[in-house]
Amino acid sequence: MSGMFFQWIFGREHYKASYGTSAWESFKKLRSNLWFRTFPAFDTSKWGLPSIGLRAQAVKVLPFNKQRMGSDPLLVRQTVPFKEAVNLVRHSVESIGTADGIDIEMVKFELVGERYSLLFFPFYCYALKGSKGKSMLLVDALSHKVIKGTVDVDEIKGNPVGDKIPYRPLRFLPFTCPNCGRDFPLKPHAKIHVCESCAQAWQEQGGEYVSVPYRVAAADDSSGVSWKYLPFWRLTAAIKSGQAQYRTLKEFFELFPLPRVMDGDALKKRNICFYVPAFRIRDVRAVDKFAAQLTRKQPQFTETAFSGNEQDVLYDVWLSMKDAKEMAYVLLYSMTNKDHKKTKDIVRDAELHFVNARLLWLPFMEKGIYLRESQTDFALQKNAIELD
Ligand SMILES: [Zn+2]
Repeated sequence: MSGMFFQWIFGREHYKASYGTSAWESFKKLRSNLWFRTFPAFDTSKWGLPSIGLRAQAVKVLPFNKQRMGSDPLLVRQTVPFKEAVNLVRHSVESIGTADGIDIEMVKFELVGERYSLLFFPFYCYALKGSKGKSMLLVDALSHKVIKGTVDVDEIKGNPVGDKIPYRPLRFLPFTCPNCGRDFPLKPHAKIHVCESCAQAWQEQGGEYVSVPYRVAAADDSSGVSWKYLPFWRLTAAIKSGQAQYRTLKEFFELFPLPRVMDGDALKKRNICFYVPAFRIRDVRAVDKFAAQLTRKQPQFTETAFSGNEQDVLYDVWLSMKDAKEMAYVLLYSMTNKDHKKTKDIVRDAELHFVNARLLWLPFMEKGIYLRESQTDFALQKNAIELD
């Protein structure tokens, strides 16, 4: 399993104050890192092998190919179902500890962009005949370590599961626009490809390209600068927590108040939108802070179709809509004030109900070390994003 791990911790930190007294302060902290885990997908009780003990990304992995394996290898039956694998991942995430000297009020975690793969790990398997009868020797085919298990060779032979593996030969998709046939920009890791000729956006789904509707926010063009357009998923959502429901902006600003008073009647008519960054991120904290700031502001953009202006650049989309919905939870915690008890109580059990999702590119202007969003003038450090 691989993905990106996010954890928001809310709590109280105790410290020594003057004259030997003690005091505490509320705090919140974001942790994030890449997440890789491997779990045995077969019954390892007789193998003496609790885990492979290696990080799958450190080894060269090839696509499963039964033909290339030939007829000699025996395949061990997969006995751990996918659902159980998902549970194992969840438990391993929940068991992550926190530091001493602090009271934890609330810990929230999200795994974003989870990808599950079934890996086949090679062992050499020798059937030995001796005076005491038959035995078997298993050797890790990568490290050449002898595995101290008690597996019987007949148990493996009696599991002819080779034909049950869902195996499809690799198929290659042409890297061209299905609409006009133009080659896509050579960014094979981008999730969504925007055709430079007809400006349509495409995403691969189940071996086919599916059209992705999108909009571009209008920039203030009077300054005559060239704009850099960064992609966001704008997710319209209701926040539900127990009996409480937050659907309109009026309700939203009760949870996440702004210093400025706004027209209540207009806010009752507007929905809550989450702006989830879809571009490639280098500095998670800086981008998270920016996105939380943008979402708290709930700006209204003038949206158009992409005009295809030569000097404007649409940056790549690295986050799918599904991953963006997971990321929206991280934003919800990011917006939550560490000293605001009512908001924390709501957020603790909150669920997001998404009613709409739209890919939206927002225009940024380069100013020194910052990129500034055209309408809000919110700034994002250039080195927080991967612009290539
Ligand atoms: Zn095209």
